[in-house]
Amino acid sequence: KFISLEGGEGVGKSTQLAALADALRAQGIELVLTREPGGSDGAEKIRELLLTGDEDRWGAEAEALLFAAARADHVDKVIRPAILAGKWVLSDRFVDSSLAYQGGAGDLGIQAVRAINAFGIGEWFPDRTLVLALAEGGARARARDNEMSDRIGGRPANYHQKVDLAFRQIASEEPARLRIIDASGSPEEVTGRLLDAIADLLP
Ligand code: C5P
Repeated sequence: KFISLEGGEGVGKSTQLAALADALRAQGIELVLTREPGGSDGAEKIRELLLTGDEDRWGAEAEALLFAAARADHVDKVIRPAILAGKWVLSDRFVDSSLAYQGGAGDLGIQAVRAINAFGIGEWFPDRTLVLALAEGGARARARDNEMSDRIGGRPANYHQKVDLAFRQIASEEPARLRIIDASGSPEEVTGRLLDAIADLLP
């Protein structure tokens, strides 16, 4: 099985990634833990191209294609071989980050970014995508938009609010694959919600 974990900033994604991996391994699942952008040798090289250099080094189209190219290599070299070998894959971010960040929050729109990524991913979409989100996510995003600058690209106005909205929109469009998970409460509570949302996939 292939699970991806998504979320805007400040929702505890790293903590939950580790906890979910521990919980799955404790059930005897052989798990490949990976991340984006990156996850394969070639994709990590592309990650460097994306994360270093001037903020305005890439135009929106080139940036989205680089993310998609990195993802295609990640699928080809890491994700597909692991799944074909009977392992589970848990990825820290996957295609839905591109749909939300490059598509929803960038200038490109979700549909265009979905199209270039579908070409790269083929049939290897996640079985389940868990999107960590806070009910007050919109308010937090607004606060961040007022105070923060980011690592990739020149950020349009209301960037984080658009990311938050885009994740919710994508989730409503593909309810079988994506689940919005309430990221409030104790870490243990959140991990419990994540496990509930993949219970039907467990052996
Ligand atoms: O996973 P992490 O929070 O470390 O991601 C760092 C940042 O990389 C995100 O907050 C986002 O700004 C950016 N990113 C992006 N497009 C992606 C994946 C990540 O802009 N497809």
